[in-house]
Amino acid sequence: MPNAETLLSIVVPAYNEAQVLPEFHRRLAAVLDGLDLRGEIVYVNDGSSDATLDVMHALKQQDPRVALIDLSRNFGKEIAMTAGLDHARGDAVVVIDADLQDPPELIPELVRVWREGYDVAYAKRTAREGESWLKRATARAFYGVIQHVGRVRIPENTGDFRLLSRRAVDALGQLREQHRFMKGLFAWIGFPQKAVPYVRQPRHAGHTKWNYWRLWNFALDGITSFSIAPLKIATYLGFVLALAAFVYGSWIILKTLAFGDPVPGYPSLMTMILFLGGVQLLFIGVLGEYLGRMFDESKRRPLYLINAYEPADVTRED
Ligand code: UDP
Ligand code: MG
Repeated sequence: MPNAETLLSIVVPAYNEAQVLPEFHRRLAAVLDGLDLRGEIVYVNDGSSDATLDVMHALKQQDPRVALIDLSRNFGKEIAMTAGLDHARGDAVVVIDADLQDPPELIPELVRVWREGYDVAYAKRTAREGESWLKRATARAFYGVIQHVGRVRIPENTGDFRLLSRRAVDALGQLREQHRFMKGLFAWIGFPQKAVPYVRQPRHAGHTKWNYWRLWNFALDGITSFSIAPLKIATYLGFVLALAAFVYGSWIILKTLAFGDPVPGYPSLMTMILFLGGVQLLFIGVLGEYLGRMFDESKRRPLYLINAYEPADVTRED
């Protein structure tokens, strides 16, 4: 049972966050100081091109709770997070963004829910501050689609900010797929989960790394890793089109038998060819999305490579 000997790990993926890290660490350290747990802060440098790594080293100098993972290049947040989870030693692990959009002050509440017996305490935002209506609308559309086509239920308005119990972390550690749609993986493992509401803040400093193209690809990953519905759509659409073609064909034959064929049907022919060609190309594209992912998985590459790993001093076994 959790007590003062319990270790809580905080995993922080960071890509070009030198501007916010000192302030982030100050706030996080203050929160950890107030908890009756030992803390470990796992900073993952995801191939930053600014001074992020230097800032992390400086933080490690002044705080023995800091562990540092330096990835060999930029792998993206999902994989940086996985590297952190793989190295976190805590009895429970919190995943949090470095940009202070996820308030560290919520962590005690997550811990409380964990102590109630839940394996996953996920932060659910009640308001999306500082986000455009377009981003909110696209997010809503995405959740609408994934809820309908997916087999696992992914909670809406929920990011990666959450606490995971040891067995949840271990379960997640067994999922080694390359296309890591983390929200889906978190949902896939199941276990008792509970939402903790909070207000999402605007970024403290620096820039978001998500543009619409990245978000679109993220959405494609989300759908293709958790549903084969798009492949089924091809089957049904093909069936409906074939049926329509059969009916239309019969009609033409009857008409020709009855009235002869006074006008060659160039426009309708053209429309059909273009339409069918378009539908075929579209679904070859859909097939390609899945095939490409199978190609990536079949290479069985490691998810990430580590340039340097320095464990926290507090967790070192003497
Ligand atoms: N991040 C990362 N690798 C990347 C992109 C982002 O580790 O390639 C980290 C980033 O430093 C931050 C978190 O992931 O801690 C969330 O990124 P961001 O704030 O850009 O995303 P948003 O909040 O806009 O979804
Ligand atoms: Mg952010």
